Amino acid sequence: CFNMVLKGARGLPVTAIVQYTFDKMNAYFLKYSMEMDAQIAGENKRKYKYKFPPKVDEWLEFQSRKADSEKAILYDNEEWKYEVKEPGGTTNDGRQHGGRAFKVSLTRCHCSCGRPLLLNLPCSHLYTAGRVRNVDINHPLTVRESEFSIMTVKKTWAPRFHPYFDQSQWPEYHGVQLWPDP
Ligand SMILES: [Zn+2]
Repeated sequence: CFNMVLKGARGLPVTAIVQYTFDKMNAYFLKYSMEMDAQIAGENKRKYKYKFPPKVDEWLEFQSRKADSEKAILYDNEEWKYEVKEPGGTTNDGRQHGGRAFKVSLTRCHCSCGRPLLLNLPCSHLYTAGRVRNVDINHPLTVRESEFSIMTVKKTWAPRFHPYFDQSQWPEYHGVQLWPDP
């Protein structure tokens, strides 16, 4: 988490905090750039060339697999409204639950489970309906898969910092003079 990046900067003089932040950011951007490049190139444990960052990839894979056991029933052919039924089963902690049903609108790429709107990623129900209709499930208001692609993440970390040399090479300062409060 980003809050941890500047851990250790507390209680330092202002110039030291600025330098510390600068150095940390420089290292941070490089580290994540290189990490993304490795994932894209497949230089990871799974030897897998990621199209999405691993966490997102995991989500998409899970939802897609879940969709394999779901069924969609058409309710409205104008709005492409479907009821998607999820089979019952046993949760991780061993509790039994019955099947559940959700309402999907394929024209709006919306699902009553709320996930597409909340996460801007598809849920299994949307996958199911999309497969039945054979249409894309991306939508500017809900599912925006392209924004989560690993190439987009790569761009986030693409800007570079520039060395600021030493004080003797800095341009002369003619701005406001500031003095500490005595
Ligand atoms: Zn859903």
